Amino acid sequence: MSRPDIAVVGSGPAGCATAWHLATAGADVVLVDDGRRPWAPVGQQLSSAALRVLRTMGVADQLATITAPVTEARSAWTDTTLAHRPALFNPYGPPLAVSRATFDALLQEAARNAGARVLRAHIKAAPGPGGWRLTVRAPQPRTANRQTPPPASSPPGTGGPIPVLIDATGAARAISRGRLHWTSADRLRCATWRLPPKHPEPFPWSLVEADAPGWWYSAPEPGAGQLTVIHARQHPVHTTGAARPGPPPHTAARLGTRRLPRPGTERVADVGSADPPWTDSLLAVGDAAMAPDPLSASGLRHALELAGPAATAAIALLNGDTHPATAYTELVRTAYTRHLHQRRLVHAAATPAATSPPGGP
Ligand SMILES: Cc1cc2nc3c(=O)[nH]c(=O)nc-3n(C[C@H](O)[C@H](O)[C@H](O)COP(=O)(O)OP(=O)(O)OC[C@H]3O[C@@H](n4cnc5c(N)ncnc54)[C@H](O)[C@@H]3O)c2cc1C
Repeated sequence: MSRPDIAVVGSGPAGCATAWHLATAGADVVLVDDGRRPWAPVGQQLSSAALRVLRTMGVADQLATITAPVTEARSAWTDTTLAHRPALFNPYGPPLAVSRATFDALLQEAARNAGARVLRAHIKAAPGPGGWRLTVRAPQPRTANRQTPPPASSPPGTGGPIPVLIDATGAARAISRGRLHWTSADRLRCATWRLPPKHPEPFPWSLVEADAPGWWYSAPEPGAGQLTVIHARQHPVHTTGAARPGPPPHTAARLGTRRLPRPGTERVADVGSADPPWTDSLLAVGDAAMAPDPLSASGLRHALELAGPAATAAIALLNGDTHPATAYTELVRTAYTRHLHQRRLVHAAATPAATSPPGGP
């Protein structure tokens, strides 16, 4: 394979959108993903504020078939009183329950159609003279429903070092960990359960409910009528193997006779940001640049909205121009600071002793 100008490692929403912007701008770009998806992102909501970017990418019309509107957000933060927030009052429209497998495949196809070369490989990268040398580890079997490009037979960039690399590997931060300064505001341990549908599944709404060690989130999934329940609690309150308390009343009522299978899928969410999110040959995007609190359901929107400025910055870095990268830093900083501020306001309204988040500015 000929040497690309830029390699994007990770084809989640951030990597696909960045590769789309790069290819659309005429850059020679390779998008590489290992297909491992180390955790199963289920029950996710896409903020309708992200539709603007998706329209630009030409995929907004196809969303109707793979998403379902979440018409109301319910929350119980301080006691058992439920607050109802109808999506009617959301200026962008209701958030969309999205199947990540189909959503990511849609974005990957858009990047490919724009001209990005898409490969499947697990990448390790080392900087050297003239750019990055990539090594490929054996490709992994495909994950259900994800589009699987052919395994890479040779590392992208075999024709020479790659001048600019983009880390879009999400929470793994596989390239930028230890290379970009990371500030962590909180660590949440999330346990996720996907439950079979109840007939009829009567709730096109999301629910967040606080309890002493954390928060319970539940939301429907599009299509299958599945319900996802996530229990997030702050590190290190949780100890693996300790008896897990049952869900609080509204979540329990929603579950009805269904029981949470044990164990759930566990994952640690590191709420934080890379600052600055670049060096002269490396840029972080998506969760690798800024990982918001999962309960805010804003990670996808941030990943998509910041992909365009990241692509502009990467192309400028090819020519030694760092100004767009500095502007990208400011955008990430502003988004992250605003996110932490809103997060503190929300948590301040909750039971102080149980749920106030540590960290934050
Ligand atoms: C429990 C939980 C619930 C959430 N709920 C929501 C929600 O409702 N709404 C919302 O907007 N956000 C939500 N988020 C956040 C959202 O999942 C992330 O913000 C989003 O996935 C970030 O996208 P990304 O493209 O940066 O990374 P990812 O989606 O994580 O994609 C990274 C990709 O890189 C690949 N990869 C990793 N390492 C390598 C390597 N070395 N070589 C090649 N490929 C590699 C992975 O296989 C993966 O495909 C939630 C997060 C959590 C933890």
